[in-house]
Amino acid sequence: MQITVSAGKGGTGKTTVATNLALALRKEYDVEFLDCDVEEPDAGIFLKPDFESSQPVNIKIPEVSDEICTYCGQCSDACEFNAIATFGENVLVYPELCHGCGLCSLVCPVDAIKEKDKKIGEIRMGKAGAIDYYEGDLIVGEPMATPIIKELKKKTSHDRVSILDSPPGTACPVIESLHGSDFALLVTEPTPFGLHDLKLSVDVAREIGVPVGVVINRDGIGDANVERYCKEENIPILLKIPNDREIAELYSNGIPFLDRLDGWKEKFLQLFKRVERLAEEERETSEKGGSNLGKSEETQTSKP
Ligand code: SF4
Ligand code: SF4
Repeated sequence: MQITVSAGKGGTGKTTVATNLALALRKEYDVEFLDCDVEEPDAGIFLKPDFESSQPVNIKIPEVSDEICTYCGQCSDACEFNAIATFGENVLVYPELCHGCGLCSLVCPVDAIKEKDKKIGEIRMGKAGAIDYYEGDLIVGEPMATPIIKELKKKTSHDRVSILDSPPGTACPVIESLHGSDFALLVTEPTPFGLHDLKLSVDVAREIGVPVGVVINRDGIGDANVERYCKEENIPILLKIPNDREIAELYSNGIPFLDRLDGWKEKFLQLFKRVERLAEEERETSEKGGSNLGKSEETQTSKP
Protein backbone atom coordinates (compact mmCIF):
# COMPACT_ATOMS: atom_id res chain seq x y z
CA MET A 1 0.00 0.00 0.00
CA GLN A 2 1.63 3.23 -1.15
CA ILE A 3 0.11 6.50 0.04
CA THR A 4 1.48 9.81 -1.20
CA VAL A 5 0.70 12.85 0.90
CA SER A 6 0.67 15.90 -1.31
CA ALA A 7 -0.34 19.56 -1.25
CA GLY A 8 -0.58 22.36 -3.77
CA LYS A 9 1.86 24.54 -1.85
CA GLY A 10 4.33 24.37 1.02
CA GLY A 11 3.25 25.13 4.58
CA THR A 12 -0.17 23.54 4.18
CA GLY A 13 0.45 20.77 6.69
CA LYS A 14 1.50 17.98 4.34
CA THR A 15 4.41 16.84 6.49
CA THR A 16 2.27 17.07 9.64
CA VAL A 17 -0.27 14.69 8.10
CA ALA A 18 2.34 12.31 6.66
CA THR A 19 4.35 12.01 9.89
CA ASN A 20 1.34 11.69 12.18
CA LEU A 21 -0.10 9.02 9.90
CA ALA A 22 3.16 7.05 10.00
CA LEU A 23 3.28 7.30 13.78
CA ALA A 24 -0.34 6.18 14.13
CA LEU A 25 0.37 3.05 12.09
CA ARG A 26 3.80 2.16 13.48
CA LYS A 27 2.60 -0.50 15.97
CA GLU A 28 -0.08 -2.28 13.93
CA TYR A 29 1.62 -2.13 10.51
CA ASP A 30 5.00 -2.54 8.89
CA VAL A 31 5.64 1.09 7.90
CA GLU A 32 8.26 2.84 5.80
CA PHE A 33 8.45 6.59 5.34
CA LEU A 34 9.99 8.38 2.35
CA ASP A 35 10.60 12.11 2.51
CA CYS A 36 10.39 12.98 -1.19
CA ASP A 37 10.35 16.72 -0.51
CA VAL A 38 13.99 16.66 -1.51
CA GLU A 39 14.49 20.42 -1.74
CA GLU A 40 13.52 20.78 1.90
CA PRO A 41 13.30 17.41 3.65
CA ASP A 42 11.91 18.14 7.10
CA ALA A 43 9.92 15.08 8.13
CA GLY A 44 12.97 14.04 10.17
CA ILE A 45 12.31 16.96 12.52
CA PHE A 46 9.16 15.15 13.66
CA LEU A 47 10.16 11.49 13.25
CA LYS A 48 13.70 11.99 14.56
CA PRO A 49 15.37 9.12 12.68
CA ASP A 50 18.77 7.67 13.47
CA PHE A 51 20.57 7.56 10.13
CA GLU A 52 22.55 4.43 9.37
CA SER A 53 23.77 4.98 5.81
CA SER A 54 23.62 7.23 2.78
CA GLN A 55 24.20 6.95 -0.95
CA PRO A 56 24.93 9.61 -3.57
CA VAL A 57 22.56 10.31 -6.44
CA ASN A 58 24.29 11.19 -9.70
CA ILE A 59 23.24 12.28 -13.15
CA LYS A 60 25.32 11.89 -16.30
CA ILE A 61 26.65 15.12 -17.78
CA PRO A 62 28.58 15.49 -21.05
CA GLU A 63 32.33 15.72 -21.40
CA VAL A 64 33.54 16.79 -24.84
CA SER A 65 36.75 15.49 -26.39
CA ASP A 66 38.67 18.35 -28.06
CA GLU A 67 40.54 15.82 -30.20
CA ILE A 68 37.39 14.43 -31.79
CA CYS A 69 35.00 17.41 -31.78
CA THR A 70 34.46 19.15 -35.15
CA TYR A 71 32.61 22.12 -33.56
CA CYS A 72 29.57 21.52 -35.70
CA GLY A 73 27.25 22.88 -33.00
CA GLN A 74 24.65 20.12 -33.27
CA CYS A 75 24.87 19.39 -29.54
CA SER A 76 24.15 23.04 -28.61
CA ASP A 77 21.29 23.20 -31.09
CA ALA A 78 19.73 20.09 -29.59
CA CYS A 79 20.02 21.07 -25.92
CA GLU A 80 16.81 22.76 -24.80
CA PHE A 81 18.36 23.79 -21.48
CA ASN A 82 21.24 25.82 -22.99
CA ALA A 83 23.61 23.64 -21.01
CA ILE A 84 26.11 23.16 -23.82
CA ALA A 85 27.31 25.91 -26.14
CA THR A 86 29.60 26.01 -29.18
CA PHE A 87 31.70 29.15 -29.74
CA GLY A 88 34.07 28.94 -32.70
CA GLU A 89 36.45 26.15 -31.71
CA ASN A 90 35.16 25.81 -28.16
CA VAL A 91 32.37 23.71 -26.69
CA LEU A 92 31.40 24.70 -23.17
CA VAL A 93 29.28 22.62 -20.81
CA TYR A 94 27.35 24.36 -18.00
CA PRO A 95 26.89 21.56 -15.44
CA GLU A 96 24.49 23.60 -13.29
CA LEU A 97 22.05 23.82 -16.24
CA CYS A 98 22.47 20.24 -17.47
CA HIS A 99 19.51 17.91 -16.88
CA GLY A 100 21.51 14.81 -17.78
CA CYS A 101 19.12 13.84 -20.59
CA GLY A 102 21.91 12.50 -22.83
CA LEU A 103 20.54 14.07 -26.01
CA CYS A 104 23.76 15.91 -26.88
CA SER A 105 25.78 12.70 -26.96
CA LEU A 106 23.09 11.03 -29.04
CA VAL A 107 23.13 13.74 -31.73
CA CYS A 108 26.90 14.17 -31.90
CA PRO A 109 27.84 12.85 -35.36
CA VAL A 110 31.43 11.97 -34.45
CA ASP A 111 30.90 10.49 -30.98
CA ALA A 112 32.94 13.24 -29.32
CA ILE A 113 30.86 13.28 -26.14
CA LYS A 114 31.40 10.94 -23.25
CA GLU A 115 29.35 11.12 -20.06
CA LYS A 116 30.59 11.53 -16.53
CA ASP A 117 28.83 11.37 -13.15
CA LYS A 118 27.80 14.52 -11.37
CA LYS A 119 26.43 14.29 -7.85
CA ILE A 120 23.14 16.17 -7.44
CA GLY A 121 22.21 14.98 -3.96
CA GLU A 122 21.94 11.97 -1.73
CA ILE A 123 19.60 9.55 -0.04
CA ARG A 124 19.88 8.94 3.69
CA MET A 125 18.51 5.81 5.32
CA GLY A 126 17.76 5.01 8.93
CA LYS A 127 15.21 4.05 11.54
CA ALA A 128 12.66 6.19 13.33
CA GLY A 129 11.69 3.72 16.03
CA ALA A 130 9.83 0.93 14.21
CA ILE A 131 9.58 2.98 11.01
CA ASP A 132 12.12 2.54 8.21
CA TYR A 133 13.00 6.07 7.22
CA TYR A 134 14.41 7.35 3.91
CA GLU A 135 14.98 10.92 2.85
CA GLY A 136 16.30 12.54 -0.29
CA ASP A 137 18.35 15.71 -0.22
CA LEU A 138 18.98 17.77 -3.35
CA ILE A 139 22.13 19.91 -3.38
CA VAL A 140 21.14 23.60 -3.25
CA GLY A 141 21.08 25.10 -6.73
CA GLU A 142 20.65 21.79 -8.54
CA PRO A 143 17.63 21.90 -10.86
CA MET A 144 16.65 18.23 -10.89
CA ALA A 145 14.69 16.78 -7.98
CA THR A 146 13.16 13.94 -9.99
CA PRO A 147 16.21 11.59 -10.18
CA ILE A 148 16.49 11.68 -6.39
CA ILE A 149 12.81 10.85 -5.94
CA LYS A 150 13.16 8.01 -8.47
CA GLU A 151 16.07 6.56 -6.47
CA LEU A 152 14.16 7.00 -3.22
CA LYS A 153 11.17 5.12 -4.58
CA LYS A 154 13.35 2.14 -5.41
CA LYS A 155 13.46 1.63 -1.63
CA THR A 156 9.73 0.97 -1.32
CA SER A 157 8.47 -2.56 -0.91
CA HIS A 158 5.00 -3.66 -1.99
CA ASP A 159 4.22 -5.69 1.11
CA ARG A 160 4.50 -2.72 3.49
CA VAL A 161 2.70 0.53 4.10
CA SER A 162 4.79 3.16 2.30
CA ILE A 163 4.04 6.76 3.19
CA LEU A 164 5.55 9.30 0.80
CA ASP A 165 5.80 12.96 1.77
CA SER A 166 5.69 14.57 -1.66
CA PRO A 167 7.18 17.92 -2.66
CA PRO A 168 4.60 20.73 -2.77
CA GLY A 169 3.03 21.91 -6.03
CA THR A 170 2.08 20.07 -9.19
CA ALA A 171 5.34 19.93 -11.17
CA CYS A 172 7.42 16.92 -12.27
CA PRO A 173 8.75 15.99 -8.78
CA VAL A 174 5.16 15.73 -7.52
CA ILE A 175 4.14 13.61 -10.48
CA GLU A 176 7.13 11.34 -9.85
CA SER A 177 6.10 10.98 -6.18
CA LEU A 178 2.50 10.19 -7.08
CA HIS A 179 3.28 7.79 -9.88
CA GLY A 180 2.46 4.21 -8.90
CA SER A 181 0.77 5.23 -5.64
CA ASP A 182 -2.40 3.50 -4.47
CA PHE A 183 -3.80 6.70 -3.03
CA ALA A 184 -3.12 10.46 -2.91
CA LEU A 185 -3.92 12.18 0.34
CA LEU A 186 -4.26 15.85 -0.56
CA VAL A 187 -3.79 18.31 2.27
CA THR A 188 -5.37 21.73 1.97
CA GLU A 189 -6.63 24.71 3.93
CA PRO A 190 -10.21 25.98 3.70
CA THR A 191 -9.26 29.23 1.97
CA PRO A 192 -9.51 30.50 -1.63
CA PHE A 193 -5.76 29.82 -2.12
CA GLY A 194 -6.15 26.36 -0.63
CA LEU A 195 -9.04 25.62 -2.98
CA HIS A 196 -7.14 26.87 -6.00
CA ASP A 197 -4.14 24.64 -5.21
CA LEU A 198 -6.35 21.69 -4.30
CA LYS A 199 -8.07 21.76 -7.69
CA LEU A 200 -4.69 21.62 -9.42
CA SER A 201 -3.56 18.72 -7.22
CA VAL A 202 -6.78 16.79 -7.88
CA ASP A 203 -6.37 17.29 -11.63
CA VAL A 204 -2.79 16.00 -11.54
CA ALA A 205 -3.61 12.94 -9.42
CA ARG A 206 -6.60 12.03 -11.57
CA GLU A 207 -4.61 12.57 -14.74
CA ILE A 208 -2.15 9.89 -13.66
CA GLY A 209 -4.89 7.61 -12.35
CA VAL A 210 -4.41 7.87 -8.59
CA PRO A 211 -7.55 8.04 -6.39
CA VAL A 212 -7.72 11.04 -4.09
CA GLY A 213 -9.00 12.02 -0.65
CA VAL A 214 -8.67 15.31 1.19
CA VAL A 215 -7.42 16.35 4.61
CA ILE A 216 -8.46 19.86 5.65
CA ASN A 217 -5.87 21.46 7.87
CA ARG A 218 -6.53 24.55 10.00
CA ASP A 219 -10.21 23.81 9.81
CA GLY A 220 -12.21 26.78 11.08
CA ILE A 221 -10.40 29.50 9.16
CA GLY A 222 -11.59 30.65 5.72
CA ASP A 223 -14.84 29.53 4.16
CA ALA A 224 -16.82 26.45 3.08
CA ASN A 225 -15.77 26.44 -0.57
CA VAL A 226 -13.27 23.59 -0.22
CA GLU A 227 -16.01 21.40 1.26
CA ARG A 228 -18.44 22.51 -1.45
CA TYR A 229 -15.91 21.64 -4.15
CA CYS A 230 -15.20 18.21 -2.61
CA LYS A 231 -18.93 17.51 -2.46
CA GLU A 232 -19.44 18.52 -6.09
CA GLU A 233 -16.50 16.38 -7.18
CA ASN A 234 -17.42 13.51 -4.83
CA ILE A 235 -14.03 13.65 -3.20
CA PRO A 236 -13.99 12.28 0.35
CA ILE A 237 -12.87 14.60 3.13
CA LEU A 238 -11.10 12.05 5.29
CA LEU A 239 -9.95 14.21 8.18
CA LYS A 240 -10.22 17.74 9.51
CA ILE A 241 -7.48 19.13 11.71
CA PRO A 242 -8.69 22.20 13.60
CA ASN A 243 -6.94 25.54 13.65
CA ASP A 244 -5.72 24.93 17.18
CA ARG A 245 -3.08 26.82 19.13
CA GLU A 246 -1.81 23.69 20.91
CA ILE A 247 -1.31 21.86 17.60
CA ALA A 248 0.54 24.89 16.19
CA GLU A 249 2.80 25.11 19.27
CA LEU A 250 3.64 21.39 19.12
CA TYR A 251 4.39 21.77 15.41
CA SER A 252 6.73 24.70 16.00
CA ASN A 253 8.59 22.60 18.59
CA GLY A 254 8.93 19.65 16.19
CA ILE A 255 6.56 17.45 18.20
CA PRO A 256 3.93 15.35 16.36
CA PHE A 257 0.59 16.29 17.92
CA LEU A 258 -0.58 12.67 17.84
CA ASP A 259 1.92 11.93 20.61
CA ARG A 260 0.48 14.60 22.92
CA LEU A 261 -3.21 15.05 22.17
CA ASP A 262 -5.84 12.42 22.96
CA GLY A 263 -7.86 10.76 20.24
CA TRP A 264 -5.66 11.56 17.25
CA LYS A 265 -4.07 8.14 16.90
CA GLU A 266 -7.55 6.65 16.48
CA LYS A 267 -8.50 9.35 13.96
CA PHE A 268 -5.43 8.66 11.84
CA LEU A 269 -6.04 4.91 12.07
CA GLN A 270 -9.61 5.45 10.84
CA LEU A 271 -8.26 7.64 8.07
CA PHE A 272 -5.94 4.81 7.01
CA LYS A 273 -8.77 2.24 7.04
CA ARG A 274 -10.82 4.46 4.74
CA VAL A 275 -7.85 5.01 2.45
CA GLU A 276 -7.39 1.24 2.26
CA ARG A 277 -11.07 0.76 1.37
CA LEU A 278 -11.05 3.51 -1.26
CA ALA A 279 -7.83 2.24 -2.84
CA GLU A 280 -9.25 -1.29 -2.92
CA GLU A 281 -12.48 -0.01 -4.48
CA GLU A 282 -10.50 1.81 -7.15
CA ARG A 283 -8.42 -1.33 -7.84
CA GLU A 284 -11.56 -3.43 -8.27
CA THR A 285 -13.19 -0.84 -10.50
CA SER A 286 -10.15 -0.45 -12.72
CA GLU A 287 -9.84 -4.25 -13.02
CA LYS A 288 -13.35 -4.15 -14.46
CA GLY A 289 -12.19 -1.52 -16.93
CA GLY A 290 -13.59 1.59 -15.18
CA SER A 291 -12.28 4.16 -12.76
CA ASN A 292 -13.63 6.14 -9.83
CA LEU A 293 -10.55 8.11 -8.75
CA GLY A 294 -12.25 9.24 -5.58
CA LYS A 295 -15.85 9.17 -6.80
CA SER A 296 -17.13 6.02 -5.11
CA GLU A 297 -20.41 5.46 -3.28
CA GLU A 298 -18.46 5.22 -0.04
CA THR A 299 -16.83 8.50 -0.95
CA GLN A 300 -20.11 10.23 -1.49
CA THR A 301 -21.78 9.20 1.73
CA SER A 302 -19.01 9.09 4.31
CA LYS A 303 -18.20 11.89 6.70
CA PRO A 304 -14.88 12.81 8.35
S1 SF4 B 1 27.91 17.69 -31.75
FE1 SF4 B 1 29.83 16.65 -31.25
S2 SF4 B 1 31.20 17.36 -32.83
FE2 SF4 B 1 29.47 18.74 -32.89
S3 SF4 B 1 30.10 20.43 -31.56
FE3 SF4 B 1 29.00 18.99 -30.30
S4 SF4 B 1 30.56 17.67 -29.42
FE4 SF4 B 1 31.49 18.72 -31.12
S1 SF4 C 1 22.74 16.04 -21.29
FE1 SF4 C 1 20.87 17.04 -22.03
S2 SF4 C 1 20.71 18.83 -20.74
FE2 SF4 C 1 22.81 18.14 -20.52
S3 SF4 C 1 23.94 19.29 -22.02
FE3 SF4 C 1 23.34 17.36 -23.00
S4 SF4 C 1 21.41 17.84 -24.05
FE4 SF4 C 1 21.79 19.48 -22.58
